[in-house]
Amino acid sequence: MKVAKFGGSSLANSAQVQKVLDIVRADPERRYVVPSAPGKRHPDDDKITDLLLYCHELASSGESIEEVFGYIRGRYQQIIDGLGLKLNMDAAFDEVYDQILRGAGRDYCASRGEYLSGMVLAHALGYDFLDAAQVIFFNARGVFDSDRTQQVLSAALREHPRAVIPGFYGAYPDGRIKTFSRGGSDVTGAVVARAAGAEEYENWTDVSGFMMADPHIVSNARCIDTLTYRELRELSYMGAQVLHEDSIFPVRQAGIPIHIRNTNRPEDPGTLIVNRVDERRDHVITGIAGRKDFTLIMIEKSMMNNELGFGRRVLSVLEAHGVSFEHMPSGIDSLSVVAQSKVLAGKIHEILADIRESVDPDHIEVVEHISIIATVGQGMVRSPGTAARLFSGLAEHNINVRMIDQGSSEMNIIVGVEDDDFERAVRAIYESFVPEA
Ligand code: ASP
Repeated sequence: MKVAKFGGSSLANSAQVQKVLDIVRADPERRYVVPSAPGKRHPDDDKITDLLLYCHELASSGESIEEVFGYIRGRYQQIIDGLGLKLNMDAAFDEVYDQILRGAGRDYCASRGEYLSGMVLAHALGYDFLDAAQVIFFNARGVFDSDRTQQVLSAALREHPRAVIPGFYGAYPDGRIKTFSRGGSDVTGAVVARAAGAEEYENWTDVSGFMMADPHIVSNARCIDTLTYRELRELSYMGAQVLHEDSIFPVRQAGIPIHIRNTNRPEDPGTLIVNRVDERRDHVITGIAGRKDFTLIMIEKSMMNNELGFGRRVLSVLEAHGVSFEHMPSGIDSLSVVAQSKVLAGKIHEILADIRESVDPDHIEVVEHISIIATVGQGMVRSPGTAARLFSGLAEHNINVRMIDQGSSEMNIIVGVEDDDFERAVRAIYESFVPEA
């Protein structure tokens, strides 16, 4: 059995929703469907969630929501009419409208996009509608209540063999609506997959999976066929984006693979995210991701390696300034700390003064505008020559490497290059591992 979550662009208009219906109907295993709110139909369009939040803002400042709400209603009506459904949602729209006017909370307003899409889909598919407020719970402090949700939701799913559960929200213990953070329908999908004991969590979106590199940088980047949860974590930490981060834990724990698929190209294989990847792979690396705007603080002191507590004292200074660091490559007489430039902003001079005072270094140098690029692949460590390939690729393109760090997880090599070289470096690494690129 599968849980299929559909993102906003998959539900943006009736033509898109028709694709969703076809996908669900094509496989009887797709017994639970988790929809987002209708998203953008084109890049300049509005997402229903944003329009609902706008209604909330207008209502809070005593302004009329008539026009914006009328537009929202019109978008759903287009979907209902475009699909030729005999569904009258007037009562539901009126109820939402009244609640917003009566001062309903921000989360209630934001969540109605999913609620209304869920009603339309349930009707169109002939599935039961299971309001997320009845089965997904947060505690009084607004933290997701995993145990209670698992208990109530799994029991509810047993009673509803085929159901639509709207994404993005649940309820506080007192019944008030609470949403996950933006993009949170991914989390609902994962939570439903775990409660259902699904064999697969399908996450349908508008890309054919996770790309080996940012397609804005490497235009013909290949899609990753299989990815482990650990690799995904490394890549998304480094800036690659497809899934809401919190959506990974519930399914990872339960050992349920996530399958990212494209609603517009259902024939594409997509990317499968699993706990352990099969050893046979056609290339060594899984993906490349990176971020710009880091600062490197390089500290040198002869005989540093003999000095007890040197590293601790440097890190204490950063801690005292509330700076968390990302990497700490070290040499015999040198130690560097890499942190995001924005976290150091306005503090760097004080930090340097404190480091000088605390460890009395021979030399400190600060290098700004550094990009960090992680080349990730769980098989990398067993493949001789990986590092050589990476660095010769960079050298051939005349890219100066400012920092190297091979994480102890042994599934990535991290390099620091100048921000101006970032895109070229990502392309160079990509080309050295995917030769036909
Ligand atoms: N509709 C919500 C948002 O725009 C949640 C989601 O789409 O996942 O963030």
